[in-house]
Formats: sequence, C-alpha cells, structure tokens
Amino acid sequence: MNVLDRVRPALAGFEPYDPAFTPCRINLSANENTHELPEEFLAAVRAAMARVPLNRYPDPMSGELRGALAERHGVSPRHVCVGNGGDELLFNLLFAFGGPGHALVTCPPDFAEYANFAKMCETECVAVWRDPRTFSIDVDALVAAAREAALVIVTSPNNPTGDLVDPALVARLLDETDALVLVDEAYVEFAPSGSSMAGLVAQNPRLMVLRTLSKAFGMAGVRLGYLVADPAVVDMLGAIRQIYSVDVVAQAAALAAIRNRALLEPVVEDIVTERGLLAERLGAIDGVTVWPSEANFVLARVPGASVVRARLRDEHSILVRDFSYARGLEGCLRISVGTHDENQAVIRALSALVKEES
Ligand code: PMP
Repeated sequence: MNVLDRVRPALAGFEPYDPAFTPCRINLSANENTHELPEEFLAAVRAAMARVPLNRYPDPMSGELRGALAERHGVSPRHVCVGNGGDELLFNLLFAFGGPGHALVTCPPDFAEYANFAKMCETECVAVWRDPRTFSIDVDALVAAAREAALVIVTSPNNPTGDLVDPALVARLLDETDALVLVDEAYVEFAPSGSSMAGLVAQNPRLMVLRTLSKAFGMAGVRLGYLVADPAVVDMLGAIRQIYSVDVVAQAAALAAIRNRALLEPVVEDIVTERGLLAERLGAIDGVTVWPSEANFVLARVPGASVVRARLRDEHSILVRDFSYARGLEGCLRISVGTHDENQAVIRALSALVKEES
C-alpha cells in the first residue's frame, strides 16, 4: 500500500519545503536581516526570554503583545491577531475564507506561498500577471478579477519585485469589489515612512494588513507575524488557529522587540542606504538589469543567471536566490541586502562571474 494514495486529493504532489540552504559564508538568499543588532536591543530581548516560565501554556491570543502591537498601529487590541510567522496567518486566512467556490486573486510574480496555501485549502488561485518588463499591475484587470473573488492579496513592497502597491489601487479594490483585501507588508519598514496601510484598517472592515518580525526586526527565527484586521476577521482567525502556535518565548521576545523598536531605526536606515549602493553597482554591470526596490532585497536579471548563482555559491560561498526558472522571472536572481562587507563581496564576485559567463 502506498500511503500517498490515501492523502487528501488536493495535497497530491506536495513535497517538503527545501530552501536549498547550503551553508555559506554569506547568506543573502532569504531576505533576513544580517546586520548585528544593537546590544541594548538584544539585551532587552534576551532578558525577556530568560524570564519566561516554560511550564505553563502560552496565552493563546498573546494579550500583552497584542496590546503593544495595537498601540504601535493606533488600533484596538481587537484589531490584532498574532501568528507563528506571517506564514501561519496566510494559511489560516485561506483556510477561513477560501475553499471550493471562494477564489483568491494574486498578482504574480509574488510570494509563492499564496498560491501554495490556496491549493492546500482547495481555493482557486486566479493570477493577474504583472507586466513582464516593469512588473506593474494591470489595475483594471485586477479589479475585474477581484469582483468574482473572496480574497485578494497585494504585496507592498512585493517579493520578489520590490515595488510598493499604489494606495489608489487598494482604494479601488475596496470601493469596486466585495472581496477581502490583504496587503502583505512583510517588508514595509524598508519603504519610505507613511507607506503602510495599517492605519486604514479601522475604517475599512474588508482591509487587512500583514506584518512580520522576520525582516526589519531581525527575528526570522522567532516566528512571529501579525495581522491588523477587522475584529470579526480576528475573531474568526482566533477560532480556527492552533491555540498555542505562538509560544511563550516568541511572545516574550516579540514584546521586548516591539517596545525597543526605536533602537532598530539605524539598522533599517543602513539597509536602505546599502540597498541603493547594491542596486547601483549591480545595475552598472554590463548586461545586468536591476529593478528599483523598496524592500531589503534587489531583483536582478543576470546573463547566465543559474550558472552565476551556482558559481557564487560554490566558488565564493555566497548564497542568493535563483528565480531564473520561475515564470515571469526568467534569468532573475534575488539578492538580499546584507551588511556593507557582504554587499561588497557579492558585487565583486557577481561582476567577475557575469564577465566570464557572457
Ligand atoms: N510575506 C512575504 C511577502 C514574505 O516574503 C514572507 C517571508 N519570506 C512572508 C510573508 C512570511 O514571513 P514570516 O512567515 O517569516 O513572517
């Protein structure tokens, strides 16, 4: 007997996720924050984690953390739902609002998990593909598709194209359709201040904003994401979530991080400065195209991308993300913005390899 014959039909063909993390000297493949965080910030987080009693179950809705997040965004705690990373919240949103007859609309190339989670939750995923050259969204086509959908996800800034969503587009989705609209702001701290749409949630019950501590906060390992949404959405997610998915250590670490977030501002500023330098230097290499980015990564179209990526890994111990096989991203590599030294190393190595490969 093959156990896979017994699997739920919608899950046929799914395989364990392999991020292809070959251990490397420099890892710029997963849009993490590779900067050393300020000692005062780390001390506060570590002290909070050390104080947590481990013998008790966590507070299911993370009351204290939820309160701090609500204060951060000027909403009531009832507007906030925490999750085990943004990933858990994305899955739970599709589990709650998707299903047969409830379509999801996305704008690929975007975060591949949207389509994956939709498939797992037996939700039709309708793709409104971006312009292949500029990655801009066809707003009329998106609005038309959203009229037939339960849920729309737009990503601001988008992974992996780096561009922000125009607030006017979100306004049209809210005004001209009945869909729930999720703005995924995993990278918004790297965009100009004022780019977040979280402040609009209280006036728009169908608008939801996803945030994470995995990027700007440098805490991808903690697994803490949250949603700012209407209390009815939050209550539904609270009803279906794994009750203890956000553990006591994550709650304590995240609370200390949120309270001390001002200490991270210089780190984010440095990443933004470095992003500009990285984009400029990569764009100056013959044959390489770089798109403008408001996130902590840049997308580059590189001659011989797949070979260049493998040689970066094998000869220079530098890991970047290969999207050259992905629809709409042919020949593209995504390079996270690292520290100054890491960025210099990737610029040097990539310049030499592109010359050799073209
Ligand atoms: N949204 C986007 C656009 C992402 O790129 C990611 C992580 N790569 C996530 C959500 C989820 O992040 P996490 O689960 O680490 O919070």
